Amino acid sequence: MTHTSPATIQQRIDAIRADIRNTCAHAGVPENQPRLIAVSKVQPDDRIEAALAAGHRIYGENRVQEAASRWQDRRAAYPDLHLVLIGGLQSNKVADAVALFDEIQTVDRPRIARRLKKEMDAQQRPLPVMIQVNTGEEEQKTGVVPADLPDLLALCHDELGLDVTGLMAIPPVDDEPALHFALLKKLKERHGLARLSMGMSGDYATAAAMGSDDIRVGTAFFGPRETDTARP
Ligand SMILES: *Cc1c(COP(=O)(O)O)cnc(C)c1O
Repeated sequence: MTHTSPATIQQRIDAIRADIRNTCAHAGVPENQPRLIAVSKVQPDDRIEAALAAGHRIYGENRVQEAASRWQDRRAAYPDLHLVLIGGLQSNKVADAVALFDEIQTVDRPRIARRLKKEMDAQQRPLPVMIQVNTGEEEQKTGVVPADLPDLLALCHDELGLDVTGLMAIPPVDDEPALHFALLKKLKERHGLARLSMGMSGDYATAAAMGSDDIRVGTAFFGPRETDTARP
């Protein structure tokens, strides 16, 4: 493995932004500048340090324990760090997740919503959340199916008073992602929500051109993951 420098990271960020600019121009839509969530799961320390040295502060992780070991000690050195949970959440990890993360994009069932509310109250950390939607209605995938979204939103927003900022989705690997991005956008608009988290290394430019506010980019930001055991 070659050493990753801050300049390499900066070049990749510039390339991602240029790619989005070109795709928006090509699609004839206004240029979009989504937030770039650098997905740091499984990435080695030298790449994390290079990204921090390049000035990047927004990172996504999909496992609470792994995220804690990577980020807990770095918090003190980087007070403006913004950590986003983008992986499925189990009830026994909710307390740790609320303590570590600044935002949770994977609320997908009533039990988790209630636990989050309880922990946010107890820790006095009212974090912004997104609802994860299983747009492909895949069996083993996390996320609420579109038909159950209205009830979950009502619970989160009206009953629990959570700060629901928008919707997040991971399209099925074998499908055309644009179909799922379009569905997520429609659901967002129907429910009057503010933000969309959609787009990964293979499709962030498409997602941006379709109105994504948060792209979650791992390999295109850091380079390939060495041991890829942490796929969604
Ligand atoms: C791993 C992961 C990503 C990033 O995947 P890349 O293809 O490396 O960009 C984005 N979103 C979620 C939910 C992930 O788990």
